Amino acid sequence: MYNLVVFGAPGSGKGTQSARLIDEYGLYHISTGELLRDHIARETELGKIANEYISKGHLIPDALMIEILENTLDGNPDTANGVIFDGFPRTIPQAEALNEMLHKRGARVDAVVGLEVDDKELIDRLLKRGLESGRSDDNMETINERLNVYNRQTAPLRDFYITQGKYHSIKGSGSIDDIFNDIRNHLKSTRK
Ligand code: ATP
Ligand code: MG
Repeated sequence: MYNLVVFGAPGSGKGTQSARLIDEYGLYHISTGELLRDHIARETELGKIANEYISKGHLIPDALMIEILENTLDGNPDTANGVIFDGFPRTIPQAEALNEMLHKRGARVDAVVGLEVDDKELIDRLLKRGLESGRSDDNMETINERLNVYNRQTAPLRDFYITQGKYHSIKGSGSIDDIFNDIRNHLKSTRK
């Protein structure tokens, strides 16, 4: 089992690079953002709760998010080869829970791909996406709040994974192909 975390600020390209990584490594993709948006679109109970947080640019509470993730992994044979975690973990408690969940399965986080993009470019990308995506969180006010939340709650994970020797810093601006090649070069040494 090979487990990869794709990490970065909102708009850093986690979804885009994850799509390339799935093709390359044949891993199962879990995007917590997509999962939640799917619930919102289907108007499930979880979707209603999630929308309250997402539309304000806030994170879904850890306990709920961790439970959702555990349910996605449990008894899912498609995850046997390994998983790309895209948008999870976003807090230290989530990262600790992920370590535990994988440990129970005799696995671990093998590598963290950290996509690093400056704030100005992030804001430009998210505003542009907002014009097409119809996402309730891609507007100026919510974008600012998401970046604040990222800096406060998520950015500390960078040090968390550096300390564990798992963090690969990737320059997340430039062409999608160049970024992907850079990721691939970094990951070579982490695959058996
Ligand atoms: P990117 O553009 O790089 O894919 P993103 O920030 O636009 O990143 P998603 O990962 O799709 O978007 O997440 C959208 C929203 O879903 C978050 O702002 C948050 O409200 C909620 N969410 C997603 N993952 C988590 C998580 N692990 N914990 C709490 N809330 C989450
Ligand atoms: Mg995304």
